[in-house]
Amino acid sequence: MVKSVSKKSFEEYSLNSIFFENTDLNQADRALIKKAYDFAELAHRGIKRKSGEPYFIHLVATAKNLAFLGMDGTVIAAGLLHDSIEDGVATEEQIKKEFGNEIAFLVEGVTKLGHVRFKGMRRHNESLRKLFVATSKDIRVLIIKFADRIHNLETLKFIETPEKRKRIATESLEIYSPLAYRLGISAFSKRLGDLAFPHVMPEEYKRVKEILKERSKENVKNLEQFRRSISKKLAENKIIDFKITHRVKTLVALYKKLIKNDWNDEKIYDIIALRIMVKDIADCYQVLGIIHKNFKPMIGRIKDYIAVPKLNGYRSIHTTIFTGHGGVIEVQIRTERMHQEAEYGIASHLSYKAKTVGVEGIRKNQKDWVSKIFGMFSKNSNSFTIMEESKKENEEDNHKWIHDLAICSDRPEEDDFEYHLKEDFFSDRIFVFTPLGEVIDLPVGATPVDFAYHIHTAMGETITGAKINDNFKSLDTVLKTGDIIDILAKKGATPNIKWLEFVKTSMAKRKIRAFWERKKREN
Ligand code: MN
Repeated sequence: MVKSVSKKSFEEYSLNSIFFENTDLNQADRALIKKAYDFAELAHRGIKRKSGEPYFIHLVATAKNLAFLGMDGTVIAAGLLHDSIEDGVATEEQIKKEFGNEIAFLVEGVTKLGHVRFKGMRRHNESLRKLFVATSKDIRVLIIKFADRIHNLETLKFIETPEKRKRIATESLEIYSPLAYRLGISAFSKRLGDLAFPHVMPEEYKRVKEILKERSKENVKNLEQFRRSISKKLAENKIIDFKITHRVKTLVALYKKLIKNDWNDEKIYDIIALRIMVKDIADCYQVLGIIHKNFKPMIGRIKDYIAVPKLNGYRSIHTTIFTGHGGVIEVQIRTERMHQEAEYGIASHLSYKAKTVGVEGIRKNQKDWVSKIFGMFSKNSNSFTIMEESKKENEEDNHKWIHDLAICSDRPEEDDFEYHLKEDFFSDRIFVFTPLGEVIDLPVGATPVDFAYHIHTAMGETITGAKINDNFKSLDTVLKTGDIIDILAKKGATPNIKWLEFVKTSMAKRKIRAFWERKKREN
């Protein structure tokens, strides 16, 4: 029955097109995927995408992205089903009955995440990223959302409203791509970024693309020559087991670097980098030695991310050398395993292969992975830069956390699963929005008064009412994640001492007390 599947022997959106992306899927996984495939086809029958294509195509595309990442049957099935309630005719009960609680949970998570919207306040991006992680609850939900978003970006041109196109693209660039990067899934991070970039900054995109084209032309010739001479040197030194490839910098990464360098691309040496893959770490250092012995390295450009991995777990040795023909090139040295991790990150541990080998260790509290994604979460880490700075403090368990991440989000046992469902790792915080879409995080139980004081003392002191999601509510209303709060304030109004009975933040308490003590003294 099983025929050898060649690339062309199946339709683009057939069941086999999914299996082709992950050839390690076992019989049970394939059966589960087939069931979800048929279910999704039925649930979306007759429904069309904006492009005029059958909606079902979007689900297969999502599933293929997940299979490409090495995900198992559960995740791929959830990917196929992710829109069947919102955009199809299925119900949550049907999914639970047909596919069980775990898949229903993943589908529900993706749906919920779809309701969290980017509202365009740059300085609050870090809070928004936290909100996305908090909402997704299970790392697999995020991964499905990435896969979904990639296809949405691929078909973004069919969305008619320019504002909507821009919102989706900006959200992908500012939230999804960085999150995927932080999870180490650079394969997804790069695609999300480069697909979104032209929609967010069309002019800059053109300019970067032009520079890349120019530089690639001159580089490729050098590259081939250099590849041959390195291969020769490695062979002379008895290193036989190696692979040399090259990678081109993504447009988004190049754009960021160009901005830093005032659009002067001459000082950017890693637009195209040579990649040498060897069998173990010892070989990595030996190759580095051989290269430095034969080519002069550029001072200050040797980075050992094997000894000191990046915060997202990335490992590799980077060095920039003079090729001897007037050229300069970056060389990256790593093992095959490091390469897998660099491309697929957390997903490479969650993946099918890792699973069949068995992941040993203790399941950790989900709180751990959330805080690790966000570095020094409890401190004032409101931006990526602080993350980068705190990198050194995190060095030691850098690599371990990816592993931990994988364990805690690995397919849970039935009992465990229920446990994790109830356990909300963001149980102590809520995330609400200002009318302008800024994300404010507050402790659970916080009220409009806490919110007002959080924005500004003057606003707290003069608050007279609040609209929550467009409805007038009392000042002691307990806020919940996702609420949009519009504070009504009146000049000359004063805080009420009774507010102390319900406010949650210590700041609000302190400010209310201070106001009344001041009043007393004045009397
Ligand atoms: Mn979708």
